[in-house]
Amino acid sequence: MYSLFPKTASIVQKYGGTSVGSAERIKAVAARIARQWREGYRNLAIVVSARAGETNRLVDLVNEVNPRASGLAYDMAVAAGEQVSVALLAAALEAEGIQAQPLLAYKLGIYTDDLHAKARIKHINTTSIEAGWAAGSIAVIAGFQGITPNMELTTLGRGGSDTSAVALAVALKAAFCEINTDVDGVYTADPRIVANARLIETLDYEVAFEMASLGSKVLHPRCVELGAKFGMPIVVRNTFTPDGHRRTRVMPHTDSDSIEALVVTGVTLDRNVARLTIAGLSKDSALISDVFQELGRLGVNVDIIVHDMPQSAETMRVGFTIAKSDLDSAHQALARLVEDKGLEGLEISAESGLAKVSAVGVGMRSYAGVAGRTFTALTSQGIGIHMISTSEIKISVVVAEKDAELATRVLHAEFIKG
Ligand code: ADP
Ligand code: ASP
Ligand code: MG
Repeated sequence: MYSLFPKTASIVQKYGGTSVGSAERIKAVAARIARQWREGYRNLAIVVSARAGETNRLVDLVNEVNPRASGLAYDMAVAAGEQVSVALLAAALEAEGIQAQPLLAYKLGIYTDDLHAKARIKHINTTSIEAGWAAGSIAVIAGFQGITPNMELTTLGRGGSDTSAVALAVALKAAFCEINTDVDGVYTADPRIVANARLIETLDYEVAFEMASLGSKVLHPRCVELGAKFGMPIVVRNTFTPDGHRRTRVMPHTDSDSIEALVVTGVTLDRNVARLTIAGLSKDSALISDVFQELGRLGVNVDIIVHDMPQSAETMRVGFTIAKSDLDSAHQALARLVEDKGLEGLEISAESGLAKVSAVGVGMRSYAGVAGRTFTALTSQGIGIHMISTSEIKISVVVAEKDAELATRVLHAEFIKG
């Protein structure tokens, strides 16, 4: 199955929500792991997510009770889905006659900082996994969860089990980290939106990271960042296809580095976009630096910033995008700041109902026409562009959410496959 690797290799496998979504699927996952075990691969660490839909259900429950619940209460509630999956997969492995060691974050020691709901892993204690291997058991570990040095539960942000898996692979010096999901790998666009999207067989960390950060949900951005930092190969494959089927390998320096590389490797869609705008600022106002400092303190990532200073007017306007999930807390923080400073006449507006569509590819470095083609392709389909931003290897446009899927298809057809 892993014929390229010695039987003594340590391997981390992660199974996502759909892969453990029902009793049947959990049994099928256990059967696959059991086959590997019988082939002689013993150093297996399996990371699992909550069953599909479970984390959403828990988030909704918290919001129903108190949308402003403390970070600790939120994390304690939403991390519960992974606990059930760990127990069920361990039970399914037992039914296969294999000893399994179910591990939650506190038990294993997945230490993070204390930024609730978006914590970062600092250190993983692998002692209990290695002891379990020596005693002949497979480790089954809860993804998504962490623990602060004070033993408070944290979570890594939505989709964070991928990051748990890659961090664990690094800590265990694994041969590779396998991400098992419900599609064959990373495609040139979400195959559920773009029917003729193609599977990308090898992808370098840089493009994979951009695609993940810009909304292609199949990999959590921080897992790619960790993979790149530690040179950990990441393999994305479909839980439900036989071994040896097509897959994506994320690794350093692939074909996308070559001169012949496509200009655009992938088109992504991020629906988690909101905009805050501050209007009526005097031109010499220091408020803007205070605003960004405050957002930084809250852990709110600011994305596209548009600074608007008409020649004729005495005031300026600054608009910027953030994650929709941060909108309420950022809006409140801004309103507080403005009030504290006694600044009257400022208008703060919040908008959701937006989405960001991006084209990503290292080929853009040596190709000048991407912005023009993006504008023409979108406007010719009647799609309005609200904001735009470019970097060396990507172009992003903010559009109305209702236009987002069409915009994704239009850019895919324009740059990848018509
Ligand atoms: P899991 O629960 O296994 O972690 P996710 O739902 O987080 O799975 O990620 C897999 C989903 O990501 C796919 O079902 C697909 O709809 C979506 N997706 C978005 N962009 C892409 C892409 N470029 N390639 C593959 N899948 C993508
Ligand atoms: N269960 C968590 C979520 O739904 C983590 C994950 O699936 O990766 O966000
Ligand atoms: Mg996921």
